[in-house]
Formats: sequence, C-alpha cells, structure tokens
Amino acid sequence: MTSREILVTHALPYANGQLHIGHLLGYIQTDIWVRAMRMAGNTVHFVAADDVHGTPIMLAAEKAGKTAEDFIAGMLVSHKADFKAFRVDHDYYYTTHSPENRELAEFVYTKLRDAKPESHIARRAVRQFYDPLKQMFLPDRYIKGECPNCGTKDQYGDNCENCGATYAPTDLKNPYSVVSGATPELRDSEHYFFKVGDFTEHLRKWLAGELTHGNPTMHPSVAAKLREWLDAEGGVRDWDISRDAPYFGFEIPGTDGKKFFYVWLDAPIGYLASFKKYCASPEGAKNGLKPADFDRFLRKDHPAFDASAEMHHFIGKDIINFHGLFWPAMLEGAGLRTPSKLHVNGYLGVNGDKMSKSRGTFIQARTYLDVGLNPDYLRYYFATMLSAAPTDVDLDLKAFEERVNSHLVGKWVNIASRCAGFVHKFFGGRLGAEGCFGPEETKWFDHLIGHHDDIANLYRAGEFAEVTRKFVYAADLVNTHIANNAPWVLAKDETKRGELHAVCTFALSAFALLSNWLRPMVPAAAEKADRFLGLTTRHFDDIHAPLYGREIQPFEPIATRIDAKQIEAMIEASKDTLVQTPSPPNPPLEGEGSKAKAAASANAGGAGAPKAAQPAQAANAPATIAIDDFVKLDLRIATVLQCGFVEGSDKLLRFELDAGELGKRQIFSGIRAAYQEPERLIGRKVVFIANLAPRKMRFGVSEGMILSAGSGADDLFLLDVDDGAAAGMPVK
Ligand SMILES: [Zn+2]
Repeated sequence: MTSREILVTHALPYANGQLHIGHLLGYIQTDIWVRAMRMAGNTVHFVAADDVHGTPIMLAAEKAGKTAEDFIAGMLVSHKADFKAFRVDHDYYYTTHSPENRELAEFVYTKLRDAKPESHIARRAVRQFYDPLKQMFLPDRYIKGECPNCGTKDQYGDNCENCGATYAPTDLKNPYSVVSGATPELRDSEHYFFKVGDFTEHLRKWLAGELTHGNPTMHPSVAAKLREWLDAEGGVRDWDISRDAPYFGFEIPGTDGKKFFYVWLDAPIGYLASFKKYCASPEGAKNGLKPADFDRFLRKDHPAFDASAEMHHFIGKDIINFHGLFWPAMLEGAGLRTPSKLHVNGYLGVNGDKMSKSRGTFIQARTYLDVGLNPDYLRYYFATMLSAAPTDVDLDLKAFEERVNSHLVGKWVNIASRCAGFVHKFFGGRLGAEGCFGPEETKWFDHLIGHHDDIANLYRAGEFAEVTRKFVYAADLVNTHIANNAPWVLAKDETKRGELHAVCTFALSAFALLSNWLRPMVPAAAEKADRFLGLTTRHFDDIHAPLYGREIQPFEPIATRIDAKQIEAMIEASKDTLVQTPSPPNPPLEGEGSKAKAAASANAGGAGAPKAAQPAQAANAPATIAIDDFVKLDLRIATVLQCGFVEGSDKLLRFELDAGELGKRQIFSGIRAAYQEPERLIGRKVVFIANLAPRKMRFGVSEGMILSAGSGADDLFLLDVDDGAAAGMPVK
C-alpha cells in the first residue's frame, strides 16, 4: 500500500464553554480515523485549535470581569485537559488568537481584495440595530422583542418560539438590546463582502471530485445539499465577512481599527495557523517537519508544492456551508490548496431526544469523567453508530451500558480472562509452539485473518460501525470455539494438555488480533491488552500470525463492566450543574448568527428535526405476573437445522428447527442485523416459544418465536444452553 501524507482537522471548539459529549462525537470520530490511518502506515498531521473570536466571547469575558485574552486562556486549559482525558491526541492544539492566524487571515483577505482583473471583495452599507448605550452593533441573537405575529414577549430577532413565525429583527415590536436593555436604533454601517459566487465554477469542479483525481470530496448527500445552494436563483450570495468595532478579533487591514474580520473568516484559517505553528515547533521537528513544510503543503504557487499531500476536515453537518462553499472559495482565491475531503457527522441526541439540562442529559465531558466512566467506552459506543454518512447519533444510555458490557467486557476481554489462568497454571505462562493448533484452530485463525484487511479499509472509509460488527462476529466465533472445547473441562484431564494449550493459544492469539482491530477506538484498553500479551503494536500489519511461544503476563482486568449507578450519577450531576454553577451570560450558548448555531448544535442535536420524546423507562416495565401466567408459555430447546436470509427482507432470518418430540418448526426471526452469517448458527441450540399462535407472513408461516436478549437491531443475542440440553426439552 502506498503511504499518504494527510493533514487532519476537526471543527474548532468555541471558547465560550466547556466541552460536552455532543462536541465529543466529532472529535472522537476524527481521532479514531487519525489513529486508524496511522495504523495503516500513513503519515498524519492532526491539528486543531480553540476558536476564540466574536461577540459572544467578548461579552462573556466582560461579564466574568476578565479581559478576552484571560477568558480564552482559561478555556484553552480546560479544553486541552478534556481532550487529553478522552485520548483525542492532537499533534498540535493552538488558538485562533495567534500571530500566525492574524498573518494568514490578512494574507487570504489581501489576496481576495487585490485580485485582478476584479476584486473578490465588495463594500456596501448594511442597516442594522445599534445599541446606543453599549455603543455597538447588535448581532440578531442579541435583540429581543415581541413577536410581530402573536405578540409573545422576549422573542429573538429571527423566529418566535411560541408560534414558530420567522422574521427579520427589524420586524420585532418593542425591540430591546439583550446586552443593555436599551431600545436599539437602526443605523447604517459599511460592511465588507466576499463574492463567493466568483468561484462557482471552481466549487462545482471541487464538488464533483475533479480536483481530487476523481476521489469524492464528501458524502453524496452533503454534495447534493451544497449544490442546492450553488444552484439557487442568483447563485451563492456574497458573504459578509466584517464586523464593526468593538469586536474581539483581527482588524481588517486598512480600516483604522473600525472593522474586524467576522469570526467565521478566521476560524477555518485557524486550521492552517495551527499547522504552520506545528511545522515550526519542537513537536513538529520531532515528527520530521520543518517550517518550509507549510508552504510545501499549502501554497500552490510554491516550487516545492506537493500536490499529492491531502487535507481532510471533520465537521458537523450544521457548518457545511462554511466548509463546503466559503472555505474552498477562500483557499482558491488565495492560491492555497482546496480540501481533499470533508467528513461530516450528524447531531448527537441522548435517549432519543435533544440534550437537555432539565433531564440531565446535557452532559459535560468533565462530568462523564468525574463519575469514573472510562473514556474508551464512549469512544467505542460512538464508533458503533458512525458511518461515512452524516447520520444523527443517539446516545441511548441503556444501550451504551449494555453494549459496552456485552461487546467489550463480555465478548472481548472475556476471551483473555477465560484462558489466561490455564496458560499460567499449566504452561508456565507461555503459549503453545507452532504446530500446536488442531485443524479447527488453524481453520478459524485463517478465517479471522481473512477479515483483517477489511478492517483497515472500513476504517479508511469511515465505516466504524461496520468495524464493530466485524469485531462482534469474530469475537462470537472465538467464544464459541472456547465454549465448544471447554478448557475448564479439558484442564481436569491430564491427558488433554495438548488440546488445552491449543485452545488457549488460539483464543489469546485471536484476542491479540481483535485488540488490534479495536485499537483506534479504545486506545487505552488496547494498550493494556498489549502489556498483558507482551506486545508493542503500532500497525494493523503487526498481527498476522498466531502468538506461538509467546510469554504472557498475569491477567489484569482490561475493561470492567459499567455500573448502572455511574450513569445515574452522571445524570444527577448534570442536573446539578444547572443549579450550582452560575448561569452563563445570556447568549454564550447561542452566540451570534451561524457561529451561534454551530456552537450550540455541533452538539445538542439541536438544529435537526425535533424527535418524539421517549416514554419513560418505568412505564415500559412489565407488571408482576403469577406463576400461572408463566406456565402458559411452552418454552422449548431446539437445534438449528437450517438458517438463511429471507429474500425481500433485510431484517429476517429463516430458521428450520429440530424441536425433538414437537418435530420440525419454521420460524422467521428479526435478528439479521445481529447475525449476518446465518450459516454459522446451524447446529447450535436456541430457546423458543413453541405455543405462540402460528403467524402467516409474506414469506411463509412462522411457527413460534426464538428468544434473544438485547435492545434490537445489531444488539441482539441468542440465548445459549449448557451441554446436555436436548432438542424438544421444555424450559421451566
Ligand atoms: Zn409568535
């Protein structure tokens, strides 16, 4: 495989608040991809920064009695600590309030302004509300008043929360400034606009992948959305890139300190500033970079420009206009490389709804850590929900607990904990030598290795959920082999030492392989697994054969079960945050204009379509029943004779069961997502309800129901029975 050199960034956290789990979705997604690309042998530069400019920061600092510089410095420390704890491991983490960013923002602006034959910057007057007391122009979100439609008081300048009407701030009745309470006046001010439409043809080519050797620059659904804007009547509108003083940001050159760059102009340029700083830093030098690498990477007119290098941005779907229209146009206008790819994620919801302070689901990163939850677990759960498509992710806290306990502890760590003791007790802590495998072990290990290349490819494509499905499939296979050979039984028979050694060597070798697959998602747990096995793995290729003859360390828990009490404590603490900490200065979570929405929804699952609230858990708990009710159920054991997909259904598997004295049964079961290789179920025992009324389905008659545990979809597990139970036996 050819090694790629890739600059990777994620959306920049806005410095007006702490990180919460909604932010973490995108950051963790980015970090997993970075780790996987490195494990595949690529060179990745991973940089980000705090995004610190704009009116919300200026006012929040003022309210806190600090200078803006002091205010953002405190936030930077907090953000860095949270990133470290969640193992989001940047090569360089900087701030957008830096000399490098100022210089680059001025460079880009000047290139656009001085373009020949015609400038890409236009100037014209904008009429806007002005706070005469505070002596500043007010962004829309800083004006409130009565809804022009229904008269509800205290509505923002863009829409009414009561009747849903949308309008301009100038339509509000009795408007007032959120900052001072004064009645705002309408005033004219000259604004600077970037004529994005000048780059329409370039953007079309970029969207079509024509500038990236045909490689798609984003998911098709994102490209379609961006094309809608390009195709809108009159094309893409000019973008207002200026704000009037007072403003916390960079002055626009040549305006005598009266005009500043809008925060959204210098925020993405902050990606480049971080990379520039990194190239010139000791950290960069350690990784072989030098200051000149910035030009080699970015400047198309530079003699050393390397067109094969790549730039990938991970962002939330709420900010695709900035990254998919304005940003590539700015870069092109400044003679800099355009992005190789946008990786877009959806919004995060919790328990099927928006994050909510009153429900205790507006969870700060710090609160998650404080209750003792392992950061790897959130990383893993997010991975089970992430694909290349910008789909919304729901953090269902019950599913989170069950999935982590089932997948990581029950399926993965369990392999090691079941076998390590025998290796120490009977074989001096050493795995079997080459040739110890029986035909089954050889076959299954080859089978697992056969999936190994897929793992790197799936990661590269951003299909993390698919990686976790492969992992679960493989872990089930290994656990089945352990169960079938029962090392705890073999251990009692001195004549079976060879078989015992083979089973344990197979299981722990497979465990090493699975740890390698999981490593980008659960880096800390994978490190522990490595220490247990005496391995140092850096690449996917590092594991390609069984660990013959390897000496292992005593087993220590690599991951422990989530206790439901931790989750309860987290919810409680998230409710407390609201009461104990002073409420943030009014707008910070909303901010100004789109920066506002970006800050609030990168996160909150906010801007998306509202979802129906989930009924309370308790309401779903079944009522108590008498034993008479239970005996009405004819539960039986059966052996699976046949199992396969059902044509025309993506949910069902068709089972043919041997139900002993009851004869053969056909049952359709909706567990296809959890068992994608149905032929592997043939021969195993299942538990089913034999006296459920037969149900006629489109595909045939279903004669009963097979029992499984879990929350649905791919999170379903067939019930197992111990050896000795025979087909047809009743379950009581
Ligand atoms: Zn209204």
